Amino acid sequence: MAIPDQFLDELSSRLNIVDVVSAYVPLTRKGGNYWGLCPFHREKTPSFSVSESKQIFHCFGCGKGGGAVRFVMEMENLPFPEAVRKLAAQAGMEVPEDGSDGTWREKRQRILELNKEAARFYRAMLSQPEGERVAEYISRKRRISPKFSARFGLGAAPDAWDRLILAMRERATTKQNSLRPG
Ligand SMILES: [Zn+2]
Repeated sequence: MAIPDQFLDELSSRLNIVDVVSAYVPLTRKGGNYWGLCPFHREKTPSFSVSESKQIFHCFGCGKGGGAVRFVMEMENLPFPEAVRKLAAQAGMEVPEDGSDGTWREKRQRILELNKEAARFYRAMLSQPEGERVAEYISRKRRISPKFSARFGLGAAPDAWDRLILAMRERATTKQNSLRPG
C-alpha cells in the first residue's frame, strides 16, 4: 500500500536528518554543513556531507545522496516502507496500516477538530470569571483590540490541569445524549 504523502510530510517535519545520520556516522560541523566518513564507500578523509537546511545527505566520493528515508534504506538495506516505519517509530508516529488511508485522514481531521474545540474552550474562558484577569491583561495592559484578540485566538487557561478534559468530556456526553432516541 502506498504511504500517504501527508504522513510522509508530517514525518519529515518531525525528523532532523542530522540526528538520523548521527546515529550511524559521527559528524562534524564545518561551514553550513556536517561532514563525516562516508558509510557507503571506504575513505580516510570525509567527503560525506549532510545539509541540515536542505535535510539531505550527499557523498562527493561515491555520489550517494538523498533524504533521511533514503539514508536509512541504504544503511539498513531496507525497502522504502520499512525504512519509513523505522523512522516513524523514532519520531513517535504510527505508519497507517494497510487500507487505512481513509482512517488516517479521518483521524487527522478529528484531531484538527479537537484542536479547534480546545481553542474555543480557552477563548470562551475570557468571558468567564476565571478568565477575567487574563481578559483585562489583554485589553488594558497589552492594549490588544477584541478584533485582534479574536483573529489570533487568544484565550485564558484556567488554573487546573484537567479543565479542558472535563469540558470536552461534558460536551461529548451532551452530544451523545442528544443523539439518543427520546
Ligand atoms: Zn561515499
